[in-house]
Amino acid sequence: MSKPVVAIVGRPNVGKSTLFNVLAGEMISIVKDTPGVTRDRIYADVSWLDKEFTMIDTGGIEPDSRDVILSQMREQAQIAIDTADVIVFITDVKQGLQDSDSKVADMLRRSGKPIVLVVNKVDNFDKYMADVYEFYNLGIGDPIPISAASRLGLGDMLDVVISHFPEGAGEEEEDERPRIAIVGKPNVGKSSIINKLLGENRVIVSNIAGTTRDAIDTAIKHNDKEYVFIDTAGLRRKNKIKEELERYSIIRTVTAVERADVVLMVIDATEGVTEQDAKIAGIAHERGKGVIIVVNKWDAIEKNDKTMREYENKIRQVLSYMPYAEIMYVSAMTGQRLNKLYDMIDMVIENQTLRVATGVLNEIMTEAVAMQQPPSDKGKRLKLYYITQVAVKPPSFVIFVNDKQLMHFSYTRYLENKIREAFGFRGTSLKFFIRERK
Ligand code: GDP
Ligand code: GDP
Repeated sequence: MSKPVVAIVGRPNVGKSTLFNVLAGEMISIVKDTPGVTRDRIYADVSWLDKEFTMIDTGGIEPDSRDVILSQMREQAQIAIDTADVIVFITDVKQGLQDSDSKVADMLRRSGKPIVLVVNKVDNFDKYMADVYEFYNLGIGDPIPISAASRLGLGDMLDVVISHFPEGAGEEEEDERPRIAIVGKPNVGKSSIINKLLGENRVIVSNIAGTTRDAIDTAIKHNDKEYVFIDTAGLRRKNKIKEELERYSIIRTVTAVERADVVLMVIDATEGVTEQDAKIAGIAHERGKGVIIVVNKWDAIEKNDKTMREYENKIRQVLSYMPYAEIMYVSAMTGQRLNKLYDMIDMVIENQTLRVATGVLNEIMTEAVAMQQPPSDKGKRLKLYYITQVAVKPPSFVIFVNDKQLMHFSYTRYLENKIREAFGFRGTSLKFFIRERK
């Protein structure tokens, strides 16, 4: 099962972003070279004790009137109910219990999702504790006092959050069917692709057991094998405000990608690849998922013998952080090459789960070192002792060296290329951890 998702919901000014940033500063690791990740922290990877989860901040822009506040909070709460395993509902001891808090609490309670009620700005537990009890009136359990700004009570809060995680969360999925998320900007053709695949194959629509989310996934049978396409229909919810729409489609994308083995990143051929595509694809890259870039609407553009090459160059340039991604040119309208998607998905999954024997890896490394001398600094040269694969999905390697400082990014990249020359690993990122052994 995939990593649990924790959503934060609450009125404006209760301290959602403060809490998010405090947790981010201390407990979150974010891949810095992926575009769009650090600029606007809508989601983040957090670990607490031995548990890892994805945290999302459903709060977006500041509404300016009371009715807007309530409708916005309802919207936020709905997103949280749709996507999260655990919902953290934040209130503010200084503002006290508000009418909109009660309305949202009712909505959250009815969802049946685990709710953690947090009362923020309890900067002094002795002084404000009496005011915290008022929040029992919400009827969603014990209020947990915290002060996000002074970092009080956060450990107790996280203990309660992780206690609600479903059994086996974050562990290997038992369901062996490949899980595929189709992501991309609005109107690139995601639904059309799904519909075309559905139209030509026997269809089974099923609720995948073991997920606590309400998403209905679609299983499609191809050559007697089932593939589960993760629902992103929620993406199509219409929001009035554009900024909101973008925030929520990112949240949907993150939660769909989280559950997937392979991500189909759909790009509109009539528009070409854009920075927004780079941001969306970055979500899959960060999470180490298999990636296939699907250039859709291939029927709708003028082509000559150079067109494909030109598209590829442009994609490689804009999505430069994922040179490993496969590219396919399809048309959901005519069905061109859509059936080839399945072979590609199979191949990418095989590569995501490929394990290379340690002996073979060390042969490759020894040969690579002989061909290109490792870097040195101030008379000290990098020595590489040993390489071994420690994980799959994505394939991850540990390299033991004499001095980590000497292991330049470019030399790691060189070794990665050697490993790829031998095994391909097409469609998947590879991770490298450098450790010192004196
Ligand atoms: P959001 O709108 O829910 O994201 O709220 P913000 O995180 O922007 O916080 C709103 C205001 O509350 C800011 O002025 C914060 O500095 C303040 N704030 C946040 N956490 C605390 C806290 O624990 N104690 C106090 N006293 N103020 C806080
Ligand atoms: P989504 O928002 O990504 O799910 O996009 P839709 O599947 O709703 O498609 C958006 C628009 O693009 C619709 O008008 C489709 O008819 C059109 N469209 C989708 N795929 C193709 C294609 O392969 N070729 C052409 N010419 N149009 C397409």
